[in-house]
Amino acid sequence: MGHFCINCGTALVTRVIEGREVEACPRDNFILWHDPKVSTAVVVEADGGIVLGRRAIEPGYGLWCLPGGFVNDDEDPAAAATRECLEEIKAAVELTGLIGVYHIPKTDAPSMVGIAYRGRLLDGVRPEAGAEMLEVGVFSPDSLPELAFPSHRTVLAEYLKSPAREEAAVLPLAGAAAPRETRPSRAQAVPRRRRTP
Ligand SMILES: [Zn+2]
Repeated sequence: MGHFCINCGTALVTRVIEGREVEACPRDNFILWHDPKVSTAVVVEADGGIVLGRRAIEPGYGLWCLPGGFVNDDEDPAAAATRECLEEIKAAVELTGLIGVYHIPKTDAPSMVGIAYRGRLLDGVRPEAGAEMLEVGVFSPDSLPELAFPSHRTVLAEYLKSPAREEAAVLPLAGAAAPRETRPSRAQAVPRRRRTP
């Protein structure tokens, strides 16, 4: 394994803690826990469909994905989700609900806890490709393109069968935007930089 203590540099040794084999420092209390990474994904509703981006980076170059990404350790996951929307589809998004929380197992990297939100574009916002995207598109739920990540397929399947989606679909988009803006929400606390005129 060959890992070293981040406090004192001593080679870690294997210990059994709470029934798990872990690497721990023999000189102090450092334990190399293998924690999951936390990531977000947002199903952004736009007129007539769902906003997806086509990836300009690996993994999944050239394939489509939901906007989202890793949560920084000082960040609320909801704030991370709206930040990723600003970065990846250059769009201010209001989160309107939680779709679910998912375990995403990995063998070659830390596994992930994925948090999937439902959201909608703020009034007058048009999505555009951010630096990590080749293009963005709005897709009808019944003609989705090939997706880069199995976890995003799971999220979209969950979204498509949720009753909240049916409720959202009957709300007139323009009429619903005005009262929402008077209600403070974390999504709106994110600066609306890069908002298109
Ligand atoms: Zn140590």
